Amino acid sequence: MAGSKVVILGGGESGVGAALLAQAKGFDVFLSDKGKLKESYRTTLQNAGIPFEEGEHTEERVLGADEVIKSPGIPSTVPLVQKLRAQGTSVISEIEFAARYTKAKLVGITGSNGKTTTTLLTYHLFKTAGLNVGLAGNVGDSFAEQVIDDTFDYFVLELSSFQLDDMYQTHLDIMVLLNITPDHLDRYGYNFQNYVDSKFRILQNARPDDDFIFFRESQPIADELAKRTPTVHQLPISLEASVEVGGYRQDEQLIAINRNHRFSIPQAETTLRGPHNAINMLAAILAAQSVSVPEEAIAEGLKTFENAAHRLEPAGTINGVQFINDSKATNVDSVFYALSSMDAPTIWIAGGQDKGNDYSQLDQVVQQKVKALICLGVDNHKLVDYFGSKVISIYETQDVQDAVAHGLAFGQPGDVVLLSPACASFDLFKNYEDRGNQFKESVRNLMMNDKG
Ligand code: ADP
Repeated sequence: MAGSKVVILGGGESGVGAALLAQAKGFDVFLSDKGKLKESYRTTLQNAGIPFEEGEHTEERVLGADEVIKSPGIPSTVPLVQKLRAQGTSVISEIEFAARYTKAKLVGITGSNGKTTTTLLTYHLFKTAGLNVGLAGNVGDSFAEQVIDDTFDYFVLELSSFQLDDMYQTHLDIMVLLNITPDHLDRYGYNFQNYVDSKFRILQNARPDDDFIFFRESQPIADELAKRTPTVHQLPISLEASVEVGGYRQDEQLIAINRNHRFSIPQAETTLRGPHNAINMLAAILAAQSVSVPEEAIAEGLKTFENAAHRLEPAGTINGVQFINDSKATNVDSVFYALSSMDAPTIWIAGGQDKGNDYSQLDQVVQQKVKALICLGVDNHKLVDYFGSKVISIYETQDVQDAVAHGLAFGQPGDVVLLSPACASFDLFKNYEDRGNQFKESVRNLMMNDKG
């Protein structure tokens, strides 16, 4: 209600956007961040005349709010949030707040892996068809800021489990659940079921004629669906068998059937490789069919899509050895798919901060594809212990340039050197982007030396 007090906890992209929207809607707004704001966000708030604090949360001010919009980075377990909940104050995410102010149809995409790829591709397919579509959530600009003028007909939203946790009433017209594998368990009391429940919040406001797109072979998804039987139009994706409605892959063709639409394309004609990307593409195609994107636009979009960096990104070729940057693969499941996507002998660069990884899922694919393993990071011993007797050559280093040089040394023309770490990057790098960029830079350095 206009005039009531909204407090925003966390001054990142989503928090600052929420502050601008709240102000535009006439709320009495205050933003509080325990850390330091980015200079550009500080300037935005100042220019808009929105009061804010940095370096602390003034409890009295926060507890006096009628509603609190919380950044997904702040766990619900922090005492301040607990106090808010105990006194009955509504604590919501920026997505929940912004969704109140848009008439657009919403596509929500979640999963442990593949969210960004699928979100960007869905957005690209809608755009290729000339639809008036916005992109928000975990990628791009703040959703809240984009609904101030509410000009879009559709939004494609990447939703993390943290965002879903603070969503209650938001109605999504199309829901995508790609997979659920253990991740972020520290935020879920080390209980996998809590994380599964969080992901399933995507379905909480589903109506019978909404579309629910999901990967059928993801075990937790199959088990939960058997328990819940949601009343929603289900569009399963399978890589193992054909389906009557939904998506599947057969003889390297992607086939999607959604209501009266049927679409097929050879994966080789698209820009994305690997079984995981077959799932991501089928999900995006089904979502596009749900809003009647014409076949030609879907085909065109799949042929022109450029994925975000650090996801199986080509990084150059030296003496016939191809380098691929998959720095975003920070867990074992994503590495499984990355290695499965390789169609040449692979020198695999892995390592970093181990998150309690269980590598047994990789046994078969490593045996089939990997000719050498280069361990790069603080927890090399975990990789060496596990793979020591399983791959022919192992090399350990703490230096990315050295890792790349040894990748080339192990390689022969036609081989691939794949950075797909399965680990967090914070031991040697600022983040996964920094790791990927340093890898690409090292490849470029090596190319120059090679020419010189
Ligand atoms: P997210 O946004 O969920 O982190 P991304 O699209 O950024 O997902 O992909 C992250 C990594 O996960 C990629 O490097 C890729 O190796 C892997 N990946 C992508 N899609 C899938 C999928 N559908 N299933 C499993 N792993 C995937």
